[in-house]
Amino acid sequence: MFRAILVEKTASGSAARLTELDDAQLPDGDVTVRVEWSTLNYKDALAITGRSPVVRKFPMVPGIDVAGTVEASRAPGFAPGDAVVLNGWGLGETRFGGLAERARVEAEPLVKVPPPFGTREAAAIGTAGFTAMLSVLALERHGVTPDQGEVLVTGAAGGVGSVAIALLARRGFAVVASTGRPAEADYLRGLGAARVIDRAELAAPGKPLGAERWAGAIDAVGSHTLANACAQTRAHGAVAACGLAGGMDFPATVAPFILRGVALYGIDSVRAPPPLRRQAWARLAADLDPAKLAALTTEIGLADALAAAPGLLAGQVRGRIAVDVR
Ligand code: NDP
Repeated sequence: MFRAILVEKTASGSAARLTELDDAQLPDGDVTVRVEWSTLNYKDALAITGRSPVVRKFPMVPGIDVAGTVEASRAPGFAPGDAVVLNGWGLGETRFGGLAERARVEAEPLVKVPPPFGTREAAAIGTAGFTAMLSVLALERHGVTPDQGEVLVTGAAGGVGSVAIALLARRGFAVVASTGRPAEADYLRGLGAARVIDRAELAAPGKPLGAERWAGAIDAVGSHTLANACAQTRAHGAVAACGLAGGMDFPATVAPFILRGVALYGIDSVRAPPPLRRQAWARLAADLDPAKLAALTTEIGLADALAAAPGLLAGQVRGRIAVDVR
């Protein structure tokens, strides 16, 4: 038996509780993992509260991140004792996820935790940090470089935003952090932001084309914020759209794309192909300062994840929440 959070269908939607499960209830898979750390991401909070239909199969163990030690493996690349991390790939949506003491996963998307990190740091990074890295890689692949000007990060004090700032700053970018929490300005500068702006500047409907302010942008907010980020990006710059914290809509025009050659990259962490996963984790290990990671992480216990979910959806959580499952 092992402890797990379980989301079950109810007459009014769904409900989550802490319970015990039997090994026999784990799905089929190549690798059985003793989960040491998981995380609370925006999507996990949606699954726990039932606010949005994240869970596609009931009952479900939520948790889109697993970090732990291999207990048993029938895949050649993994052996008992290996420290591993998995982000997305259906975890917590169609397949039992990380908010449990044990998980069984497919080997293909599984990544060995790269030194200097251990499972705790891998979870602190989690899907949010992995997504931030995928977004930075998209801007780099496009050819955005520090000498081209400032890079905008929206939803800056959240998980994706915080890690994106640290990663970009480490590579020499001048990062402008857009936040609705001016009280977090010092925190954001501590992560490496050169300037902090009020997210209200980007939240209202804007013009099809604005002044060219950004060499690139990483947007975790969506809606008018994403439209304005595109409209304010310099000619032939790029925007990585990775989130919808402010709305799923995209009230934009084609002007930035056809008149300025701005590129809009979609970032999908869930089905990111395995080679890209390994590349992103290698870069996280190289670029993410462990001290900054510690500064943006709060740790809670497995049972606390239930109570922490509403605050995360309300935008009250700073940085990342790592869940100690041990
Ligand atoms: P967090 O809740 O940690 O951060 C979201 C941040 O967005 C908040 O901290 C806040 O930043 C800002 N925000 C919240 N509500 C609003 C609002 N109404 N209007 C404008 N800004 C708002 O979430 P994550 O960082 O974990 O995730 C961010 C987004 O990215 C989510 O939408 C999530 O679903 C998505 N995501 C997508 C992934 C993918 O694969 N594409 C993977 C991971 C996450 P501040 O207080 O600084 O303004």
